[in-house]
Amino acid sequence: MSLHKELIDRDRKVTFHASTHLRDFAHGDAPGRVISGGKGIHIVDKDGREFIDGFAGLYCVNIGYGRTEVAEAIYRQALELSYYHTYVGHSNEPQIQLSEKILELAGPGMSKVYYGMSGSDANETQLKIVRYYNNVLGRPEKKKVISRMRGYHGSGIASGSLTGLKAFHDHFDLPIETIRHTEAPYYYHRSAEQAGMSEREFSQYCATKLEEMILAEGPDTVAAFIGEPVLGTGGIVPPPEGYWEAIQAVLTKYDVLLIADEVVCGFGRIGTDFGSHFYGIKPDLITVAKGLTSAYQPLSGVIVGDRVWQVLEQGTGEFGPIGHGWTYSGHALGCAAGLANLEIIEREGLTQNAAETGGYLQQAMAQAFGDHPIVGNVRGVGMLAALEFSPDPAKRTQFDPALKVGPRIAAAAMDENLIARAMPQGDILGFAPPLITTRAEVDEIVARARRAVDRVLDELANNEDLK
Ligand SMILES: *Cc1c(COP(=O)(O)O)cnc(C)c1O
Repeated sequence: MSLHKELIDRDRKVTFHASTHLRDFAHGDAPGRVISGGKGIHIVDKDGREFIDGFAGLYCVNIGYGRTEVAEAIYRQALELSYYHTYVGHSNEPQIQLSEKILELAGPGMSKVYYGMSGSDANETQLKIVRYYNNVLGRPEKKKVISRMRGYHGSGIASGSLTGLKAFHDHFDLPIETIRHTEAPYYYHRSAEQAGMSEREFSQYCATKLEEMILAEGPDTVAAFIGEPVLGTGGIVPPPEGYWEAIQAVLTKYDVLLIADEVVCGFGRIGTDFGSHFYGIKPDLITVAKGLTSAYQPLSGVIVGDRVWQVLEQGTGEFGPIGHGWTYSGHALGCAAGLANLEIIEREGLTQNAAETGGYLQQAMAQAFGDHPIVGNVRGVGMLAALEFSPDPAKRTQFDPALKVGPRIAAAAMDENLIARAMPQGDILGFAPPLITTRAEVDEIVARARRAVDRVLDELANNEDLK
């Protein structure tokens, strides 16, 4: 038995995997893979098989794999001090430097950074801040948070409630009370009656739906709105033209805080430091994680704007020290990794590369798939791209979900040694390569993706069962 097979068999017996068919995996009916190394945009498994990672892990390994500089920064910090808590004013040098750097990148109006370990826990912190804020302001009824259908904000009880995807709610009794979901800014999925709408009209429609929801709930009960600048896990969907402008006008009108979930967009992915900069979003609170350390260490952050910060100060003036904290907040190794990561992004101009090579990626995808017989939509921005499949692109119809066209194409890409991700609730193939990706590598990604899609097209055409 190969070492790889033996490792997988051991794994099946002992590990509870995320987002996995637990029974099939445990009983050997679903594949496993042990990843043992990586360099640049490639990862390699225990059999030595090499893949292009067209999704940068989970859109997080932005500087690519195998950056020894980050490993060394973590090591140096570990030799000096791995950890001390950051409660009651304790700090460590990397935390201070990292907060300064994050605030510099975030731009004016942002005041402080609070650290966690994951995007999910950072959004839990956001919800606590929002509640505290309105309690301090004497508005105990103003507590509901509006998210979007197809939004992704994590998978905890509260953060998973913010997420607007079925699989994260069903059988977990979610969402919790006080969370609502409004229209997704998903222009391609507009209804047949909306077929003639322009993007701007659709954005206005989304803003009107939001306003109707706020009025139905009662503006005095709605505390915050949370959204990703570009829908991520919900399908990699850039907003239609004018969307954020229209949404922000409604939020301002009803004094609703805006939380920008920048876990994917933050630190360069769409060609600007933050997705908010790209779309003219002026958030009160920002969530960051993935791109902050390129996943070399787990680290997330909540960036608190001036307006909210002042109320938090006022609150502790009245109630004493804030009752919120994780043991690992501001972990020195995470902060050291974050600093080393942001230094690489700056030095190598990776945000700029996401804009330029990202632009090339968009062109190459449009060229390869623009008039493909089963591609209904080619979309993306910067180093984010998606293909949405359709049996009849002109009519924007969808395949029977039972055909599993999306997962089938992702599997075909794997056969081409390309990792691209089948996104939930639709037949969508997502791409989010590391920000170091070159034009030649884009060409290779697109060529492999094209072979994979063509192969599934042939399968669909040749197999009566699949029609
Ligand atoms: C991944 C993600 C999260 C959750 O982060 P975890 O580290 O998986 O908890 C939150 N928001 C967005 C936009 C994400 O993409």
